[in-house]
Amino acid sequence: VNSDLILSVNFVLVNRSQQRYIVKDILGQGTFGQVVKCQVSETDSHVAVKVIKNQDAYTQQALVEVHILGLLNSKFDPDDNNHIVRMLDYFVYQHHLCITFEMLGSNLYELIRMNSFKGLPLSIIQLFSKQILRALVVMKEAGIIHCDLKPENILISTSLNPAEIKIIDFGSACFEHRTVYSYIQSRYYRSPEVLLGYPYTTAIDMWSFGCIVAELFLGLPLFPGASEFDLLKRMTATLGLQPPDHILNVARNTNKFFKRIGHIEDTGDAGASIGCKSPYQILTEEEYEARERKKPVMGKQYFNFVTLEDIVKNYPHRKNLPDEEIAKENSTRLALIDFLKGLVEFDPVKRWSPLQAVRHPFVTGEPFTSPYRPLLETPRIPVSQTVMVDYKPGGGRLV
Ligand code: ATP
Ligand code: MG
Ligand code: MG
Repeated sequence: VNSDLILSVNFVLVNRSQQRYIVKDILGQGTFGQVVKCQVSETDSHVAVKVIKNQDAYTQQALVEVHILGLLNSKFDPDDNNHIVRMLDYFVYQHHLCITFEMLGSNLYELIRMNSFKGLPLSIIQLFSKQILRALVVMKEAGIIHCDLKPENILISTSLNPAEIKIIDFGSACFEHRTVYSYIQSRYYRSPEVLLGYPYTTAIDMWSFGCIVAELFLGLPLFPGASEFDLLKRMTATLGLQPPDHILNVARNTNKFFKRIGHIEDTGDAGASIGCKSPYQILTEEEYEARERKKPVMGKQYFNFVTLEDIVKNYPHRKNLPDEEIAKENSTRLALIDFLKGLVEFDPVKRWSPLQAVRHPFVTGEPFTSPYRPLLETPRIPVSQTVMVDYKPGGGRLV
C-alpha cells in the first residue's frame, strides 16, 4: 500500500481549525516520514512540520513524542527557558499524523561538518554544554529519558540568539519507570548499560552527552563503533578499564562480549588491589568469531592516541593561535578531560547527573585546579516506584 503523501513545495496541510500550512522546503526525511518547512498561511511565520507515515507503528511512536514533548513544554518548561524544542500543534491530515514545531536551523552534526570536522572552539562547547545540561536537568526532573541524544538531534536556533541550541526529536523518548525497549540510542552514543543489557535510567542521556561534548571538540565521534563489539572495545581502550563486575554480573549481554576466567582468590593482600581481579575478560576478535560464528565488524582507528587524556591533550591546536592563548587552551583542555571522565563513566550510579555536571569548572568557567568532586545528590524515589506495604495481622502484603 502506498499511503505516503507526496510532499512538495506549495503542498498545503490543514489542521483542525482549518489553519493552512504551505510547504516551502523539505528539511529532513527518515523512516518515520518527512519534516518540511511550512509557512503559516496569511502570516510571515514559519514552522517545521513532521509528517508521519500512515502506518500504525510510526503513528503510535509519534503519539509518544506528542505526549512527552507536550508534558515537558507545558509542565516542566512553561517559559521556554530550557533549550527544548517547542511543539506548537498536532493534527491528522489525510490519515497522517502531523506535528508542528518552532522552526530551527542547522543541527550540530552539520555545524561540525561545515567546520571541516576540525572541532569547535572550547568557548562554544562550554556554551552549548550549559544549554544541553539545562534541558537534561528538566528531563531528569520529569523522569524522561531522551534515548537518542546525538549531534543530529540538537539544532541551532534561527531566532534572535544565534548561539542558542535546542534539543529535538523525542520520538524515542520514554519515562524512566517505563523502560520497555532494549535496542535504543544511536550506536556511537549508546551507553554501556544499554549495550550490555542492564537496567537503564536518565543516566544514559548523560553518557550520550559526554560523547557529544567530546565530538564537538574533536570533530569526530569519540566512540565510532562499527558494531557493538567494536564499540565496547573502543570504550574499554579509551577509558583504560572495563565495566565494573557488579554490572557484568547481572547484565543480559555479558556473555556476548566477555569470557569468564577462573576467579582469583582474594588473599587480602593490599598490593593485589581489587579491580585487577575481574572474573570477566573481554573476548579477542578471534574468540568473538568462534563464539558468534561471524567476524566482528571492526572500524578503523580515528585518533593517533588511545586514552581519552592523550587524545584530548594531543589534539592539534588551531593554526596561528598566540602563545598565551595556547596556555589558556591547554588549561581548559585539562578541565574538559576531567569533565568528560565524569560523563563517560561506566557505572551509571557514579556517572554525574545533570545537576552535578552543570557545576563543573568546565561549564561554569571557574579556573580548574583539581579533579571535580560533585556534591552528593539526595536520592529521590520516583512516586511510581514507591512500594506501599500494608501491614495486616498475618504478615505484610503488597498493595
Ligand atoms: P530519524 O530518527 O529517522 O533520524 P527522526 O524521527 O529522528 O528521524 P527528527 O529528528 O525529529 O526526526 O527530524 C528529522 C530532521 O528534520 C532533523 O534532523 C532536522 O534536520 C529536521 N528538523 C526536525 N525538526 C526541526 C525543526 N524544528 N526545525 C528545523 N529542522 C528540523
Ligand atoms: Mg532525529
Ligand atoms: Mg528519531
